[in-house]
Amino acid sequence: MGETIILDPRFATLIAGSARLERLWTGGRWLEGPAWFPAMRSLIFSDIPNDRMLRLDEADGHVSVFRTPCGFANGHTRDRAGRLVSCEHGHRRVSRTEHDGAITILVDRFEGKRLNSPNDVVEAADGAIWFTDPTYGIDSDYEGHAAPSEVGGSYVYRRAADGTVQAVAKDRVQPNGLAFSPDERLLYVADTGATHRLGLPATIHAYPVLPGGAGLGSPRLFATSGAGLYDGFRLDIHGNLWTSTGEGVHAYAPDGTHLGTIPVPEAVANVCFGGAKRNRLFITATTSLYAIYLKTNGL
Ligand code: MG
Repeated sequence: MGETIILDPRFATLIAGSARLERLWTGGRWLEGPAWFPAMRSLIFSDIPNDRMLRLDEADGHVSVFRTPCGFANGHTRDRAGRLVSCEHGHRRVSRTEHDGAITILVDRFEGKRLNSPNDVVEAADGAIWFTDPTYGIDSDYEGHAAPSEVGGSYVYRRAADGTVQAVAKDRVQPNGLAFSPDERLLYVADTGATHRLGLPATIHAYPVLPGGAGLGSPRLFATSGAGLYDGFRLDIHGNLWTSTGEGVHAYAPDGTHLGTIPVPEAVANVCFGGAKRNRLFITATTSLYAIYLKTNGL
C-alpha cells in the first residue's frame, strides 16, 4: 500500500515510520460507520447497501455479521454508558441498542415530520446526541427506501438528554460527518452536497457551540478537499482532524493546515480510533476495512 505523504513536519510526529496500512477485510459494498467497543475488543461497522452491520473481533481478526437486516444503518457511535447509538437510513431514525439488546428509538421525527435518513452521530459530554440528516437513504432504494423528504431540508440536529430535538444548523446542503473539538467548543461538519449540487466544494466547517449546547454560532470554513468528498471523520487528543476523502485519509491540524495523507486504494467513507490504546485508526473504504497504527490517540 502507498507510502504516507507528509505535507507538514508536524505530521511526522503523528505517523510511525514503519507502520503500514493493512487491509483487514473485504467483501462489502459501501462500508461506513465504524465504532469501537473496548470491552469487546470489537469494531462495529456498516455495510449499507447490504443492510447489515459487521463486527471485527480484534483478537483474532475475524469479521462476522452483527445484525441483519439493520435498517440500512450508516453511522454509529458508542455513548458514555458504552451503548451503541446508530443512524438508520431505512427506519429514518437514530436508535440506541441497550445493554440487554433492546432497541430504543431516540429520534425519528422533527416537528412531526419524519427525518430524511440520519447519517452520522456523536454524543456530547452532557449526553446530548448530535447527528446529521442528509437524504442519501431516501434518494433511492440502494441505501434505504426511496421516499420524498418530509422535513424539506438536510439539517444538523441535537437531541438533548431530556429528549428535546432542535435543528442546530440548516445552512449545509448535505451535512454528513460531524465531530467535536476536544473541549467541545467547536462542532465540525462535513458537507457532501456536491452529490446533489454539481460543483459545490467539498468542505468541513467549524461551528462554535453555544454555551450549554444551546445551538451553534456562525461557522467558518475549516478545510476544502481537492480529492473527493469528506464524509466521516474523527479527532485525536491533540485536536487534529482525521478525515475520509476520495484518495485516502487526510489529517488536518486545529489551525486547518493539511498535515498529510494516508493513501488508501479505495474511496474512504469514515474512520474511527480503536485498539486498547485508541492509537489504531480503522478506515471503512468502499468494499474494504483497513487500519493503520498512529503515534497519536483518539479522543
Ligand atoms: Mg457519512
